[in-house]
Amino acid sequence: MKTIYLDNNATTQVDPAVFEAIKPYFSELYGNPSSMHRFGGQVGVEIKKARASVAKTLNCLPEEILFTSCGSESDNTAIRSALTAQPKKRHIITTAVEHPAVLSFCKFLEKKDDYEVTYLGTDEHGRLDMDEYKAAIRPDTAIISIMWANNETGNIYPIEEMAKIAKDNDVLFHTDAVQAVGKVPIDLKNVPVDMLSLSGHKLHAPKGVGALFVRKRSPFRPFLIGGHQEGSRRAGTENTTGIIALGKACELAHKNMDTENTKVRALRDKLENGLLAAIPNSILNGDKNNRLPNTSNISFGYVEGEAILLMIDQVGIAASSGSACTSGSLEPSHVLRAMDVPFTFAHGSIRFSLSRFNTEEEIDFVLKTLPPIIENLRKLSPFSPEKQGLGL
Ligand SMILES: *Cc1c(COP(=O)(O)O)cnc(C)c1O
Repeated sequence: MKTIYLDNNATTQVDPAVFEAIKPYFSELYGNPSSMHRFGGQVGVEIKKARASVAKTLNCLPEEILFTSCGSESDNTAIRSALTAQPKKRHIITTAVEHPAVLSFCKFLEKKDDYEVTYLGTDEHGRLDMDEYKAAIRPDTAIISIMWANNETGNIYPIEEMAKIAKDNDVLFHTDAVQAVGKVPIDLKNVPVDMLSLSGHKLHAPKGVGALFVRKRSPFRPFLIGGHQEGSRRAGTENTTGIIALGKACELAHKNMDTENTKVRALRDKLENGLLAAIPNSILNGDKNNRLPNTSNISFGYVEGEAILLMIDQVGIAASSGSACTSGSLEPSHVLRAMDVPFTFAHGSIRFSLSRFNTEEEIDFVLKTLPPIIENLRKLSPFSPEKQGLGL
């Protein structure tokens, strides 16, 4: 059975062209890019090209890019750097809907290191309030960390405006752009963020490589200390295959951006509109008109998301649910809770996330198979409207 992969916000397929590009660096070209000899030096040249490619995608300088092992490392490094560089400042601003790479780290800093953290809330569509944001900024705010795009809903946040406000207040600004890079245009010449995180495996490069943009002249303190790699900003022998892959993936993402914005959006809209029309008591979660083109988060009322996932898995469809099985009870995700999605809907939420590798036939198959699955599950559900006598 062929998998219909609609879970691209969790991870993506390595693009075959990326795979081809890195093969030699697993075998004959295994040199250490820091070596003095030509054998290592030729790998160093490729790393330089990869850095330039990532920089071109973001419209920044190559020396403003440092390679890391993943998006989580980039996020942790950025926040820790800002705190270490400004030891007197004890306040952090973030949102209640960040990825755990930021959110759990902020909770850790609050609990273990006594920092004060403001978690900005959202409205029912997951949107932030600019007045709440402005009011949260204090003289002792060390760092503001706000995601460019949300991994669960696809919501895009007004990073340009928020970063400008941070700059006016002399506060460092970091954005987790792991879901945004490659999907929406990013121009760091015009968006005054100090730091930006991205991750290879979310844009068709392999797992285990990420990058952190650090603006020239922004303060920076390394997280990993050791050798002089990455201009002494991140020690450790370079993940040469990962970095070369990330460079190639950025080049392709840059080239494919219009495809993402037209073909992928059209498929996503077809899937979303089809499901909402065919399945009663289904609602869209997120900011309909200001989202990533590949993401659709739909709540199917009166059914458990986990049950839906198991059923669609049987027919080869891979997606994600908005609830996580924590301590034995099914809790809606922190993102849906921040949005106050009603209980009977939050539990039945499914995130579909597409890529340029999805096809129209795949979407047609989902549109044919999912509605009867939901109907059958509702017949079994203790929460179903019929059983509660709501007559919906
Ligand atoms: C996946 C993801 C991360 C973490 O990236 P890794 O490379 O898996 O560590 C961070 N932020 C967002 C928004 C993500 O979607």
